[in-house]
Amino acid sequence: MTGPAMPQRILEPGQIESAGQRSTPRVRLPARERLFTRRAERLRERAQGHALADYLRLLAMVCDVQQQALGGFTPAPPSADRLARARKHAMPPLLATDWPRDPHWRGVVHAIAVALASARAPAAVGALGARLRDAPEAWLEAQADALLGVREDAIDVAAAPFLMAALQVLFVASTGAFTAADVSPLDVRTVCPLCGSAPVASVVAGQGAQAGQRFLHCALCATEWHRVRVQCTHCGAGGKDVAYRTLARGDAVDDVAAADAEAVRAETCDACRSYRKILYEERDTAVEPVADDLASLALDLLLAEEGYHRASGNPLLRQGGG
Ligand SMILES: [Zn+2]
Ligand SMILES: [Zn+2]
Repeated sequence: MTGPAMPQRILEPGQIESAGQRSTPRVRLPARERLFTRRAERLRERAQGHALADYLRLLAMVCDVQQQALGGFTPAPPSADRLARARKHAMPPLLATDWPRDPHWRGVVHAIAVALASARAPAAVGALGARLRDAPEAWLEAQADALLGVREDAIDVAAAPFLMAALQVLFVASTGAFTAADVSPLDVRTVCPLCGSAPVASVVAGQGAQAGQRFLHCALCATEWHRVRVQCTHCGAGGKDVAYRTLARGDAVDDVAAADAEAVRAETCDACRSYRKILYEERDTAVEPVADDLASLALDLLLAEEGYHRASGNPLLRQGGG
């Protein structure tokens, strides 16, 4: 050791907390070797006795195809020029609406389409699979533009979840060019720092150095970024505007105090009347943002009745559609 010894200091509780937050990684990249497998497992677990069991199981099958497709997919990394521009303008380096898509993503659509066409599922699913299997390249690219640009009027509602599933594989594969240290937080904390997409839900980490920290989970590339707790993830309001709702109890519960409440809750905001789901790993280590958001649709219905709207959608379910 060189240099003068640091004077010993006793930290106040507040200082300990902020020191802990400083050392928390701001970004968590997806665990690519298991991401979709874990999602499939969770969908199958939540499907048991569920009103939407068949749909959840169909999506679990799609997740299996996604995991398999991800294994052999290595998109070209972003150029040094693109990375420098992104840094200069504080923009996401894989901005979904401006990232040249590796054509192999259409091969992933084909793999999903073949699985749908041969699934033991209602005839409409098989017909959709056949339609996607034979879809022209130009149509697929136009749909991808509409989905990533959130141009609702141009989106094929029936095909959307399965095209999004293929795009997820492309973007999750593309995160492989980064380490968490490469990714700078954006000034805009409501979108993914890597691809600029909206989060599907948030997760409170249950273990290790990150225990108790909340992360937003990107609906497209599955990157997670830190966001302080008890703060609306849509408009940033905090304090008394933010409340937590669960299905079992109609009343609001606290974020921190209700350790005995369910692992899946809705964080509502009375400033902007929106909500997103929040998952607590300390209550259930298997929680998975896309799967648990889908499986807790009854909570969405409860909140819709009370006049709250979803801050952003689920990539595998197009609500309000056919
Ligand atoms: Zn993302
Ligand atoms: Zn809000």
